[in-house]
Amino acid sequence: MTRPRLLPVPLAPLPNELIGSYLNRLADANRLPIRRIDALIATGRHHSRDKDDLTGWTLSSIERLAALTGRNSPALIHALPSLAALAQPNPLPTPPASLTPTAWKTKVCQLCAASRGVHGLAVQRTYPHQRICLQHQRWLGGRQLPISPRFHELIRANIRHRRLLRGHRDPLQPSALHDEARTMTSRWFSNNNGPLELQRTWDDRLQMLNPDTESDPHDDRNLIEMVTYPETVVLTTLLSKPHNPVHHDFLAEVIRSFGLDPRSLPALHRHTTLPSSMRNPDTPSHPSRHRPGSKSTA
Ligand SMILES: [Zn+2]
Repeated sequence: MTRPRLLPVPLAPLPNELIGSYLNRLADANRLPIRRIDALIATGRHHSRDKDDLTGWTLSSIERLAALTGRNSPALIHALPSLAALAQPNPLPTPPASLTPTAWKTKVCQLCAASRGVHGLAVQRTYPHQRICLQHQRWLGGRQLPISPRFHELIRANIRHRRLLRGHRDPLQPSALHDEARTMTSRWFSNNNGPLELQRTWDDRLQMLNPDTESDPHDDRNLIEMVTYPETVVLTTLLSKPHNPVHHDFLAEVIRSFGLDPRSLPALHRHTTLPSSMRNPDTPSHPSRHRPGSKSTA
């Protein structure tokens, strides 16, 4: 098969961009249907904008993409993380599900993208701490929203969140812990059974964000993530600490960290499902037991 010719508009990929996002932007910029780009790369499959799936890709697909875009293969592999796994002779094993954060994909901040001359929709791989663009003070999950000064606690939480990642060469583990924390806060929010003080805080934030909406906020995962984000970061910090199963009670520490009424501890025990890795295997239904100190960030 002959090498494809250089496209008239050979866009560069954005850092950590999804392969589907990049190919669709190439198609848009060159006024081609995406199926034409699919055919030129010859992977035998269609690429959706929000997918990072390399089914059908081979090293020659990377070379064909390099020819189309006038870039060398190492530069493409550096920018498009999914290609790295394909190019490595001995790819790293897939991390266990417990270490795989779910927030892998986020639309690139529209203002950051515009500063690079990108005006269409671009999607990149992200970690949970990248759900906020600190430079432009924008929440990037779902529909991107500017973070107003009265919502500055989101910015402060994000700074703490990024600080938590210092010292980690790979943000995989702290990101997985953030997922566990987010599951806890979103369950409290959705079931309306979290600590009363936090429920009030979240209701206040909801009012500030979207006072006129008639839709049910409990159906909007992005809104829930945003409203509960500062508390999720606090829980992520607590989960990151090494725990002693005898002398430590995670939920008691939650009470202290949030300054909650200590009398709310029994209700918190009743209504909180701790991550499975934290439950004592002998008493899986009892949330107060602590897993052995396996969640150290060391
Ligand atoms: Zn930005």
